[in-house]
Amino acid sequence: MVTKAITAATAGINSHKIEVEIDVINSLPGINIVGLPDNAVNEARERVRAAIKNSGFSFPQGKVIVNLAPADLRKEGTNFDLPIAIGILKENGLEIPFDSNTAFLGELSLDGSLRYINGVLPLVSGLKDAGINTVFVPYENAKEAALVQGIQVFGAKHLGDIVSHYTESPLSATIVDINDFLAKNSESEYLFDFKDVKGQQKAKKALEIAAAGGHNILMSGSPGSGKTLMAKCLASILPPLELKEALELTKIYSISGLLDSKEPLMTKRPYRAVHHTASSTGIIGGGSNPKPGEITLAHRGVLFLDEMVEFPRNVLEVLRQPLEDGEIVISRAKNSVKYPAKFMLVGAMNPCPCGYFGDKEKQCTCAEYQIQRYRSRLSGPLLDRIDLIINVPRLTTEELMNSKTESESSSAIRKRVINARKIQSIRYAQEDIFTNSELSTKQIKKYCVLDNASEEFMKAASQKYQLSGRKYNRMLKLARTIADLNSSDNIKLEHLMQAFQYRVDIV
Ligand SMILES: [Zn+2]
Repeated sequence: MVTKAITAATAGINSHKIEVEIDVINSLPGINIVGLPDNAVNEARERVRAAIKNSGFSFPQGKVIVNLAPADLRKEGTNFDLPIAIGILKENGLEIPFDSNTAFLGELSLDGSLRYINGVLPLVSGLKDAGINTVFVPYENAKEAALVQGIQVFGAKHLGDIVSHYTESPLSATIVDINDFLAKNSESEYLFDFKDVKGQQKAKKALEIAAAGGHNILMSGSPGSGKTLMAKCLASILPPLELKEALELTKIYSISGLLDSKEPLMTKRPYRAVHHTASSTGIIGGGSNPKPGEITLAHRGVLFLDEMVEFPRNVLEVLRQPLEDGEIVISRAKNSVKYPAKFMLVGAMNPCPCGYFGDKEKQCTCAEYQIQRYRSRLSGPLLDRIDLIINVPRLTTEELMNSKTESESSSAIRKRVINARKIQSIRYAQEDIFTNSELSTKQIKKYCVLDNASEEFMKAASQKYQLSGRKYNRMLKLARTIADLNSSDNIKLEHLMQAFQYRVDIV
């Protein structure tokens, strides 16, 4: 007889249902695993055998054949231990009457206890989509698993707990209120607040627009202008995550092993600051055992590149594709994985090598050609993907002395951002997007309709600045966000004119 137990395998941030078939044949004792297992799955043989024996159960006399089906999918990770062990125990005659709608996920210790595994949210989510109605997971993963609604989750501490669940003491199902999780954590403290940034009204407004519409932004300014501080303040004005976004982000952090088992739902938008010495694999993702990179960990949040010009050209250039598509495909020898990467790129740079070009008090010592060469490290196609490019001049001593002691707080700015995002989420309820920055060319035609005066203005501007189609569309998206911040249903001329102020390379 053959016993079947259901489990799952991750693929990117999704997963597939896997059938574990167990048979015992008359041969030398041992376990043989077939069906494209990787090393970690192969090592399950030793863990499973020890765990079964040390839990007080008997191991079959004969050779155990484990087949993972479908065979053409690569199986990685340690979550196969539990379904293999449970399957062997049942095949060996133990009374464990689970059916084909029940799945098992978990790594076993040699003593039979179940250990935390990565990727439980995508695994359980995929199982639910495949029609599975019950899943057993390690106790520490139970809350994360229960974020998936519509599937019964049992958290077990030990292999023996699952056997006794069917015989003497049933486990109780883990239930979480996902909306409660989200609401509880949406208001939080931030280290940096715009109220502590003096002056810089224009830059602050630009960051507010960026946050409201999810736009990429580049700030150029001398050392001491506060551009890095303002980039850090950005986290404090980002809107809370919507449930769909939170789940998507949680899947990413789950497969990356970066979740907190007590508070498994990601409730804050990520803010990832990356240094220019980081490897391209670290930024983009990949490696022999592919992992999401910083651009994926920044999904639905911010990727901050300080001193952007210092990043290796090849790293900056690989950012172009995910900036355009909102995802990254990592190719491997046998197959490829796809990770989402819809992040807001926030860059900061000096205006020239010495840092003081255009400064009101300090003299720039760079030659013209040095400045040009410095700036050309950011390619045209990359700059094309940045909606707001602004100068952030350093305040003079006098301006610093005269500026008010306290500026508008982040929480006041955040209210306007949230309002603008609400308008967008209502407008795009039937679309697969959340923000203006994600509008496709087709959607721009639908949602960025111009009146006659605005149409004329854009015609003239296109000619004057030789706007490419891509730049033209970027200006419309930006104007759409400015209109939303002003609660205006339509894009007006004033919104377009304002949008042009935030592209210093154009005007
Ligand atoms: Zn200079």
